[in-house]
Parts: sequence; structure tokens; C-alpha cells
Amino acid sequence: MLTVEEALEGILSRVEPLGIERVEIMAALGRVLAEPIVSRATIPPWANSSMDGYAVRSSDTDAKPVELAVVGRIIAGAMPSRTLAAGESMRIFTGAPLPEGADAIVPQEDVTAEGDRVTIRGRVASGAYVRPAGEDVRTGDVVVRPGGFIGAAEVGLLATLGYSQVRVHRRPRVAILSTGNELADLGTQPGPAQIPNTNTYSLMAQVIEAGAEPVNLGVAPDELDAITERVRWGLTSADALVTSAGVSVGELDLVREALERSGAALHLWQVSMRPGKPITFGTRGTRPVFGLPGNPVSAMVTFELFVRPALRRMEGAHVIDRPRLRARALEPIANPGSRRGYLRVTLREDAQGYGARLTGDQGSAILRSMVLADGLAVVAPDTKIAAGEPVDVIVLRSLEPRTR
Ligand code: AMP
Ligand code: MG
Repeated sequence: MLTVEEALEGILSRVEPLGIERVEIMAALGRVLAEPIVSRATIPPWANSSMDGYAVRSSDTDAKPVELAVVGRIIAGAMPSRTLAAGESMRIFTGAPLPEGADAIVPQEDVTAEGDRVTIRGRVASGAYVRPAGEDVRTGDVVVRPGGFIGAAEVGLLATLGYSQVRVHRRPRVAILSTGNELADLGTQPGPAQIPNTNTYSLMAQVIEAGAEPVNLGVAPDELDAITERVRWGLTSADALVTSAGVSVGELDLVREALERSGAALHLWQVSMRPGKPITFGTRGTRPVFGLPGNPVSAMVTFELFVRPALRRMEGAHVIDRPRLRARALEPIANPGSRRGYLRVTLREDAQGYGARLTGDQGSAILRSMVLADGLAVVAPDTKIAAGEPVDVIVLRSLEPRTR
């Protein structure tokens, strides 16, 4: 049996970033840059005021009050009409360009103004309340590197630099196929021995959260021909395929055979972890296929550990891992058995950092353990972490205050 790290390494060595497309910057949000963002301009292009006040020459000011002539008025959006000479000042507003000759701003609350004269009460430092030209970026600066994630700040920067479009990696289209005679899909009446199809929906949602695009292949019964037909479609029409269930060793576990029949080469199929273990990974050409276990928690956790990083790599992202943090167990966290545990925990911040607590029953069919989870505690085999001891947690969601 492989370790999680060995399995992940085997997967990542077989997936590559997808091609590149040019999109409008708003459509680039949440995607990965495929070109460096190089500044085409110096921002701000000229020194400007960060306050409403008076532009002055700092050398005109003194420890004693000095009176200066007010010889102009500069509003944001207009250029100063002339150079500032000794003994002069200009009324200036936030964001307006400094006149030639001026090197400091005196905020309006620090002066006494009367008619076209203004009294400065003390010495002013050169550069006070001045935003120098290029304090943000300079022409030629590489501001974001390829492989970087485009969030709201990057969209704003692109607009600032005059990019209306940008080159990003294509989003993977990921086909999702659930298998099992017992599954009743959403909107159909379950038969007497049927259960609702959970995994199609949780997996499609995980695909979207990973920045990719799901394609729903529905539910196939446990029949080799039916599974093979849909697997073939997935392996030829999508960028990746994810199947759920039918990968253990039961006689109705037909997914691996269907994958092989569809021309996929299988590279591994058992990983030492709990929940999970029976996971299959294969490729057909450059297209990866993941055969995930059927229990809803196992499907989600194996997606997290193996499919998500692979999709992030296909999206061109440099950072493909979730953040991890070291928390303090708030109660004993035990992982009996010989496989590494990924236990669902809530995280709560207090004066000593983050505290982790189990979400309750950890059965691999108990989806509520995922609903409550902020993260996965990574616990070595045959290990009991006592309350107060440190525990490593993979963070699954933003740790905002929650009402649950
Ligand atoms: P299997 O891997 O086919 O043995 O399935 C393992 C368990 O997961 C069984 O209890 C199945 O009923 C359940 N299961 C399989 N597929 C799904 C699904 N799409 N939604 C919810 N439960 C499922
Ligand atoms: Mg089954």
C-alpha cells in the first residue's frame, strides 16, 4: 500500500498545466496567470498629495510661524499652472499633482488661512504627505508572476496598468460519474432499497471550489458496459474524469475494469489512509482519471488529498496545497489502526492559538462530519493525541466566525 505522499507524487508527475486563453480581467478572477504582469506605467505617474492642504517648499518653513502667499489651487484631475517659487504655497487637494518646486504638503488643519495668505505654524519635513511618483509600481516591474492566483487585488492592479484582458490557463473540464445500483438521483423517487446520490453533487461542488468546471455524467448502474460507455465519454471529451464507488474488491466493483477497457493505464489503487484506501488513479494520454471510493466522506477526503492538487496543477497554479496549521487538541484525538487518519475537526481561535475538536462520529458515511469540519487533522497510525497536545490540521475553509 502506498503512502499519501507517494500516491500524490505519482499523480502530480503525470499531470500538466492546460493550455492558455485570453480573457477579460473580470473573467480572470479566481484563475491562474499564464503570463507575467509587467507594469506598463509608473504608478502614480507624478508625486501627489495624500491630504487636503497646502503645497510648500519645506526650506521656506521654520520653527517659528511663517506666512506664505497662496498663488494657486490644484484639484485632483488638473495639472498645476506653474512652478512654486520661494515664499509661495498652493492650495492642493488629495490626489492632485504637486507643483514643480514644492516638496511637502501641510494639512489644512495645521495652518491658518486668511485671504491669499497662509500661516504655517512650524517646521515641515521634506516629503511630508507626498506620495512619490512610482511608490506603487514602476514601468517594467514584474508585479505578478505566471502561476500566480488572480484575486480581487490583482484584478484592480490589472485595471490600473491598463490591461483589459489577460492570459490565463484554461479551466479543466472535469467529468463526474457516480456508480451504483442503489443510487437514486436528485429528483427521482428512491426505490425501497435505494439511497440518495450524494457524491455527484459534493464532487461537482469540490470541482468548482478547486477552480475547475464540472460535467455531470449522472449515475451508471453496476454494469460493465454501462460504466465503460460513460467512462469512454469522460476520457475523450473532458480534461479529467472522476468516478465514485465501485473501486473496492467486491464482484460488483467494476470501475477499474471499465477504465482499462476504455484505454486508461492504471498507476495505483490502494493508499494507506482513513477514510479512503481504495482509490484508483490512471491516465489516458494526458487525461487523468480518479476512481474514488463511494462512501461520501471518503469520496470528499480523497478528492481533497489527490484530485484537488492535480486540478490546481492543471490550472497552472504554483501553490497547489491547502494551508496547514498546528492546532492544540481540545479533546483526545485517537487514530487506532494501521492507516494514517484524516479526522474532521472544527477550529476555534483563542488566546493560545487554534484549538481543534472532533466533529463527532467519524464514520466514512457520516457526511455531517464534513459539514461541520473546518479542517482535517492529520494523525499518524496507532496514535492517541491527548488534550493539550499539538495536532496538524489541513485547513479546508476560511476561518470566519460561524453561527453553527
Ligand atoms: P462501494 O465503493 O461501491 O462499495 O460504495 C461504498 C458505499 O458508498 C456504499 O455504502 C454505497 O452505497 C455508498 N455510495 C456509493 N456511491 C454513492 C453516492 N453517489 N452517494 C452516496 N453514497 C454512495
Ligand atoms: Mg457499489
